[in-house]
Amino acid sequence: MSECVFCKIVNKEIPADIVYEDDLILAFKDIAPQAKVHVLIIPKEHIPNNLYLEGRHKPVVGHIILKVNEIAKQLGIAETGFRLIVNSGKDSGQEVYHLHWHLLGGEPLGRLICK
Ligand code: 5GP
Ligand code: ZN
Repeated sequence: MSECVFCKIVNKEIPADIVYEDDLILAFKDIAPQAKVHVLIIPKEHIPNNLYLEGRHKPVVGHIILKVNEIAKQLGIAETGFRLIVNSGKDSGQEVYHLHWHLLGGEPLGRLICK
């Protein structure tokens, strides 16, 4: 069994507030939201971060980027705007090493980076 927390969510071993699911991907609310709307979108396959993407992952990555728009509409943030963030590696502050896109919105988000 996987020790990865997001694999556990995929396998329904731990609960999550799921907003979208299909064969390839899962979207669920972040446990510690950084904005009024904060959802994580992940491939079901365990990929540690962006650096580990291979050519064979093109379909799932494209699928996620397009599904973001549907999920944003569903959450009511498509028109007001949103931000997508992918942390990858130490300097990004990545905490969970299962590739994920942060979808943030529902309020003005301020500048891109604060150190
Ligand atoms: P990272 O810093 O790796 O880009 O982001 C990891 C995100 O996962 C954080 O925003 C954190 O709040 C969220 N997170 C960590 N553990 C859990 C969990 O068990 N459930 C949910 N829903 N989110 C989690
Ligand atoms: Zn995983």
